[in-house]
Amino acid sequence: MEELRSFGYICPKCGKAVMGSRTKFALSASAVRIECDCGDPGLEVQTDGARFRLWVPCGLCGDTHQAEVDASAVLEGRGVGLACPKTKQLCCYVGEENEVRRHVEELAIRAEKEKAGAEEAFTDNVIMYEVLSELKDIAARDGISCTCGSHDYTMQIHRGAVDLTCTRCGARLRLDAATDEDLDRLCCQMTLTIGKR
Ligand SMILES: [Zn+2]
Ligand SMILES: [Zn+2]
Ligand SMILES: [Zn+2]
Repeated sequence: MEELRSFGYICPKCGKAVMGSRTKFALSASAVRIECDCGDPGLEVQTDGARFRLWVPCGLCGDTHQAEVDASAVLEGRGVGLACPKTKQLCCYVGEENEVRRHVEELAIRAEKEKAGAEEAFTDNVIMYEVLSELKDIAARDGISCTCGSHDYTMQIHRGAVDLTCTRCGARLRLDAATDEDLDRLCCQMTLTIGKR
């Protein structure tokens, strides 16, 4: 089977982590586009054989950044990160699928944080980071639901708490995210139910 190389970034339009993989052959043969489900035009990759040129939609500052990377960095090795020139933070990752997934998940959390405000947006940045990744784990096993039966919810991030709101009935679950105790309380939960505590 042909080896795949992956691209990951945060969609500036909808804020979602976007990942796509292509074979090395496809990447070398013609221009490639990795698109987001929301219809945003997405990331474009072109090559002249020696170097790759990428147009990266930046989930951190909202611009599209152009970057040039050696073909070897795109096609070989664990991967390479590209930084946003405005925020100086990683905004795109290219390489092995597992590496890209890991980096893009971190990116998604960081982009969420940027949106919520500056670096000091939270009562405790470390706790908030941990709470958000814990929530992501619970969500990954479909552990978040509402008493009304819905599994669709939105997440609002505040200074010291996260709200989960059911999109069907509007019920809300507030999770404190400011202290070690808040984190401990969340860590021992396999599932979360909106609409009751
Ligand atoms: Zn999108
Ligand atoms: Zn940027
Ligand atoms: Zn509900």
